[in-house]
Amino acid sequence: MLFNTLSKYFEKLETTSKRLELVDILSKLFIESDSAEIGKICYLIQGRVAPFFEPVEMGMAESTIAQAVGKAFGRHKEDVIKSYRKLGNMGLAAKELATKAKRLTIKALSVSEVFGELRKIADYSGEGTVEKKVSTLAELLKKLDPISVKHVVNIPLGTLRLGIGDPTVMDALSLAKHGDKSLRPVIENAYNKTSDLGYVAETFFKKGISGIKNIKLVVGKPIRPALAERLPSAEEAVKRLGQEFAAEPKFDGFRVQVHLDRTRRQAGPVSSFPPASARSSKRSPQPDSESVDLRAVGSPSTAATRQPFVQLYSRNLENTTHAFPDLVKGVIEEVGAKIAILEGEAIAYNPQTEEFLPFQETTKRRRKYKIEEMAQKLPLVMFAFDLLYLNGKDISVQPYRERRKLLESIVKKDGKVVRLAEERVLHKAEDISKFFNEAISEGLEGLMLKKLDSPYVAGGRGFHWIKFKRAQSGELTDTVDCVLLGVYSGRGKRTAFGVGGLLVGVYDEKRDEFVTISRVGTGLTDEEFRKVNEISKHLRLSHKPARVNSKIEPSFWIEPKIVLEIYADEITRSPVHTAGWDPSTGSGFALRFPRLVKFREADKRAEDATTVKEVKKLYQNQFKKGR
Ligand code: ATP
Repeated sequence: MLFNTLSKYFEKLETTSKRLELVDILSKLFIESDSAEIGKICYLIQGRVAPFFEPVEMGMAESTIAQAVGKAFGRHKEDVIKSYRKLGNMGLAAKELATKAKRLTIKALSVSEVFGELRKIADYSGEGTVEKKVSTLAELLKKLDPISVKHVVNIPLGTLRLGIGDPTVMDALSLAKHGDKSLRPVIENAYNKTSDLGYVAETFFKKGISGIKNIKLVVGKPIRPALAERLPSAEEAVKRLGQEFAAEPKFDGFRVQVHLDRTRRQAGPVSSFPPASARSSKRSPQPDSESVDLRAVGSPSTAATRQPFVQLYSRNLENTTHAFPDLVKGVIEEVGAKIAILEGEAIAYNPQTEEFLPFQETTKRRRKYKIEEMAQKLPLVMFAFDLLYLNGKDISVQPYRERRKLLESIVKKDGKVVRLAEERVLHKAEDISKFFNEAISEGLEGLMLKKLDSPYVAGGRGFHWIKFKRAQSGELTDTVDCVLLGVYSGRGKRTAFGVGGLLVGVYDEKRDEFVTISRVGTGLTDEEFRKVNEISKHLRLSHKPARVNSKIEPSFWIEPKIVLEIYADEITRSPVHTAGWDPSTGSGFALRFPRLVKFREADKRAEDATTVKEVKKLYQNQFKKGR
């Protein structure tokens, strides 16, 4: 396919906000695509040149892009920046300059050719990187028509805002190949195993349904994590789990998926850490200079080292390997397997007292700089709780009982870093209450209850895992992870922060859109208000984003990217909010007395926020508690 054809599709997608139309346009695009290019097209739709978990970043900031645009069209960088300020988008500015420029070199480049050049730009490293990136991009732009120029420029800047989520792409793939959306579950199953939509799409188009049904777990491609359900009481849990079930402490750290392959060598940085791409990446604004877009700190362009291959992925499947050298070392020394994929929760602890530290301390380990120093100050332990792959065999399909046995056989007994999560096999509600109280008194978050005969359910919340968390007060048994959708300007003292309140929403899985659930004005410290202000500077939009469904208007909209954990007393119904909108009562769900608990931007994507379905359950659970 010509890149110009793809760009025309992008133009259409950009101006459509209705999900059904998006699916329709995308499916037409897929029908027109060559099966060898469909994977690349899936990455480009997300504004990337690799699957999202691969730490491949273009590493070009606005000023370097402006330099490349100027070089391509015979303008000074300042002229480009002026035009950018006027039009508010670098792609539009570049398109305007491309239209005005007298050019003899426009060529009909294919999607693969443009993709190849963009990938080359991302892969440059070492000395002279910036110059190489600028001249490669300039040469590419020179050859492209104005519409293609606009979209190519927006890719390295992370401003290609098509507003398309993975479920929409999966529906469109099914529609393109099968004429309806019925194959979505099969596609999703393959996606859950590999998290690589481009790879799944290409396999689907080349090998059909049997091809994607055969997709296996791959070491180096993260598996979408299994998630837990909530229930209102221990009695309800026993009803679901049967007469015998496993219980483990719920550690309040961060989830780590470990991929180990001793038959391969680890790629290591050839240049300094962090990679140049991470230093100059504009993809994700991080107002706190120590906090980090961990996607940007995975393996940079690399050479092989002598160390075995180990990759670490976070809850939202970003590659975090380079941020945790102590965990990597622990895995190499303390996991007795040739090839394995295991999961655990990493938590900081005090080596003198052997006490766990609170989440606020653990989270300080997510950083770009002074990594080794912090690893000394705040060492991590990883409590391994599941094993999905062992020495060439997918064991995620085996019952938990068997997986646990195998996990026990590979985790070294007296390991310092990798330890086994304690497991007790329980039978009654009283057993749960007793273990829960013990866990709480040790400063843990609660319990995870697990069905002993259940396989690992990748990418889904289900009753195979049930979480019991320490309730804070009020009636809700869990916090709600909300997406920041808009900001209300501040009054009084808050004028100084530029932010007076937040409009937040949850994720509607069925519609692949974000729906509002609350206005939050309390529970934020001054520092947090400032952080929201910083975020809004980067993610502020002039119009409502395509995937947001709201009845109210904040002072300004925010691109849905940032997840905030919110604690509320209760879920109520309100005519103002669109979450779980019920036309018969004219109301949606709303949070009563919401306050901010913490930012979860480092380990949750917007689509990982609490879903409408979950909110509905939390709402119903309130009544089951017998109030
Ligand atoms: P939360 O907001 O409660 O941390 P979440 O949305 O990130 O939840 P849940 O499915 O609700 O995910 O809870 C499971 C999380 O609990 C896992 O992602 C993992 O990080 C953590 N966890 C801690 N201890 C365990 C354990 N023993 N087994 C499984 N998960 C555990």
